[in-house]
Amino acid sequence: NRQIVLDNRPEAEATASNFKLVSADTPALADGQVLVRHHYLSLDPYMRGRMNDSKSYAAPQPLGEVMIGGTVGEVAESRHPKFKVGDPVVGMGGWQEYSVVDGNAPGLLRKVDTTHVPLSYYLGAVGMPGVTAWYGLTQIINPQAGETVVVSAATGAVGSAYAALAKARGCRVVGIAGGPEKCRYAVEELHFDACIDYREHGDVKAMAKALKEACPKGIDGYFENVGGYILDAALLRTNAFARVAVCGMIAGYDGAPLPLQNPALILINRLKIEGFIVTEHLDVWPQALQELGTLVAQGQLKPRETIAQGIEAAPEAFLGLLKGKNFGKQLVKLI
Ligand code: NDP
Repeated sequence: NRQIVLDNRPEAEATASNFKLVSADTPALADGQVLVRHHYLSLDPYMRGRMNDSKSYAAPQPLGEVMIGGTVGEVAESRHPKFKVGDPVVGMGGWQEYSVVDGNAPGLLRKVDTTHVPLSYYLGAVGMPGVTAWYGLTQIINPQAGETVVVSAATGAVGSAYAALAKARGCRVVGIAGGPEKCRYAVEELHFDACIDYREHGDVKAMAKALKEACPKGIDGYFENVGGYILDAALLRTNAFARVAVCGMIAGYDGAPLPLQNPALILINRLKIEGFIVTEHLDVWPQALQELGTLVAQGQLKPRETIAQGIEAAPEAFLGLLKGKNFGKQLVKLI
């Protein structure tokens, strides 16, 4: 069982030398346990935060242990009556080829239906990132039909689900993404009404101007994935009583500062700004997954995936995610 462990913590930007590839035997199963063979490993921005040992909403990743991460795969051996060999499952198996899971622990391992939804989508559109988009949109922004809602990191796992969910609610949906190819894809494939290339609009003033053109009626709901000047520019274009769901600040995960230039706008526009962590709202997951699964089955949500091959490719693929090299959900295929 090949595994990637966190070997040492980043000083500033994360590098491949923070990780180490090791090999370990899979232990014999005890009663109630299940051996899962991972097909795909999910790479997600939150993992960068876990590599630090500073205070955060989640405990740091311990050194020398397998990197945390979502996985999908099949049951390879089972000593639990609920799980049969060959069952497709989603869990938190980490950066390794196999994991041993306690089948009785609530929420650790879930059987999934791959009739209409490909297995890998349970790590993206019909998994944690999809629910993240659903939560911020429906529970914080709560848009009315006809309102304008915006999202940054628009073509990623969260952003692409957000577009489908917001279109289904009759919103004007505007994205912000890196590069012309991603912006074209956002409009042509993800049904965004417009998408702004932030690399072409590299400061608050330029971004605010582009947002004014793309959102002629102002912004009613903003879903933040990036932070920095993009957030500042979006706040400048908010309407009175706009809602801002603060989901991520990926521009700062590798150490870059993210100052906010216009905090007075929170008062001037009577903004509601709310941060959230999707795993703290497990009660709404079934409802969210149901809607996301339906959108996929009906062809209204066609997420894109970037797939690295083999466990040894995980560190570089993860570093690429922090630089926007992924196009859609970043996965590692293990078999
Ligand atoms: P994505 O699939 O969107 O991949 C990350 C994307 O972020 C990159 O493709 C890139 O897109 C963009 N990006 C990376 N670095 C920068 C930068 N310096 N400046 C601007 N954009 C950058 O990831 P996810 O959809 O999985 O996650 C999106 C966000 O949601 C993240 O901030 C993540 O932390 C957050 N999140 C929060 C959760 C919560 O519970 N609060 C749960 C899940 C995710 P581009 O090329 O377009 O810039």
